[in-house]
Amino acid sequence: MTIPGDELLFLPLGGSGEIGMNVNLFGCQGKWIMVDLGMTFADPSLPGVELVLPDLTFIERNRDRLLGVVLTHGREDHLGAAPYLAGDLKVPVYATPFTAGLLREKLKSDGFDDAIKVKTVSMGATLELGPFKIRYVHLAHSIPEGNALVIETPYGRLFHTGDWKLDDEPLMGKPSTPEQLTAIGDSGVLALVGDSTNVFNREASGSEGEVRRAMLEVVKGRKGRVLVTTFASNAARVDTIGHVANETGRQLCVVGRSLDRIIRVAKASGYLKHLPPLIDPDEAMSLPPQSVLFVATGCQGEARAALARIAAKEHNEIRLSKGDLVIFSSKQIPGNELAVGVLHNALVSQGVEVITEKGAHVHVSGHPGRPELEAMYGWIRPQIAVPVHGEMRHMTEHATLALSLGVPDAIVPTNGAVIRLAPDGPKKLREETAGRLVLDGDVIVPADGLTMVQRRRLLFNGYLSVSLALQRGKLLGEPVFAVQGLPLEEDLDDFVAKAKREVVRIVETSNAKDVAGLSEKIRIAIRSQARDYTGKRPIAEVHIIKV
Ligand SMILES: [Zn+2]
Repeated sequence: MTIPGDELLFLPLGGSGEIGMNVNLFGCQGKWIMVDLGMTFADPSLPGVELVLPDLTFIERNRDRLLGVVLTHGREDHLGAAPYLAGDLKVPVYATPFTAGLLREKLKSDGFDDAIKVKTVSMGATLELGPFKIRYVHLAHSIPEGNALVIETPYGRLFHTGDWKLDDEPLMGKPSTPEQLTAIGDSGVLALVGDSTNVFNREASGSEGEVRRAMLEVVKGRKGRVLVTTFASNAARVDTIGHVANETGRQLCVVGRSLDRIIRVAKASGYLKHLPPLIDPDEAMSLPPQSVLFVATGCQGEARAALARIAAKEHNEIRLSKGDLVIFSSKQIPGNELAVGVLHNALVSQGVEVITEKGAHVHVSGHPGRPELEAMYGWIRPQIAVPVHGEMRHMTEHATLALSLGVPDAIVPTNGAVIRLAPDGPKKLREETAGRLVLDGDVIVPADGLTMVQRRRLLFNGYLSVSLALQRGKLLGEPVFAVQGLPLEEDLDDFVAKAKREVVRIVETSNAKDVAGLSEKIRIAIRSQARDYTGKRPIAEVHIIKV
């Protein structure tokens, strides 16, 4: 069990080797702080599950050494696990006003109202937690109040970038200037722990201001309804959509709960001051098509989001038709291509035109491309580069880039690796428990545990069971079969009849006192018959009732 001594340790519990679920621990003089507590979305290997959460076993066991959770910003991959897991840590969660507002709203809507103490920290403020002195440093990102952290410790100064980009026209907030970042570099930085997401992009991410102009060009002069879909958390983009509505004489209608929430929190934090008054969907549909602009959730093809329901003609109020336009002001997150494709096809088959970032400059990323990474290393000039927020390929490329820029040392972490940054670092010391949990229904279970293993087996193999009653070693009545998800189709009756005869034969020829042995014989027999009929190996169960 790692207890930080007279040293500075780094231990990621999520986000190293994956894009999502960021959780980073820093340790010093017996204490830990946690930076971010994010979640990620399930892939098809976790059927029936939407949310994946980090396994915090290590820090839960060291709870008395944890001083607080410090959130850099409000995207789900940085705060999404907090409502589920932060309560158990029994420490305050620190965040800037917008992020804190989002977290409080989430806690309220999930029914965790008082479980977590959320402490608001002003933008640019400093926070002291034991041996750590933490200063929020605003950087542009695709959500208001993206922050890097300057973390001062007795063993050196860290620059934890959070998620960031350079944007000379960010439309929201005032990101730190090159001069301010250079001053941090001048004070001497031991390690830069930073975002690797877009290290393969040769171009800089681009500005929200460019998107605003491009989107206006696309919408101007259109005759039909226009719907823009984007990530709800990108309040600057929502502001742009409001601006485009104003400039093109359209009324704005917001569709989707997560957008409502962001707008509410953003307004409460002093953003979105110029958003036009919103109209409701009924009113929007009663207006001439050229007078309405929708902004809707669901840009990743999420089945329950507003856009998917509109495209499937299942939305209660909103219909699109020939001559209307849908703008995807978003990037396709890898893994969502199929779902987004289904959405595009549903829309175009109704005569709706679809424009994506490939056809017009209607989206920019929130993460730094290579030129931005180069600039940041030039300003911060750390002794050590610690790439995080990426798959292994992104982090390795990030380390190579940092070394090529003259950073003396780099180390690529993995979730669970304890890395000593100082003194005598960087050096991997050992491994601690790290892993994934899933929210399955309302229950949190391990991603590689029995529930998920069984779920996959059920899904891929199907299920077969037989129930029989025995009285003094003889069958009472007929065995009853149940079949789920086996491709028997029209062979089902034949299959059941044959299996029944086999069960009867086994009961008659076996020692009925040995119920366990009998049960296993029957199980093997019906499973093997299922294999003969279908080529599948279903989960097979035998229930014997002794009367
Ligand atoms: Zn992120």
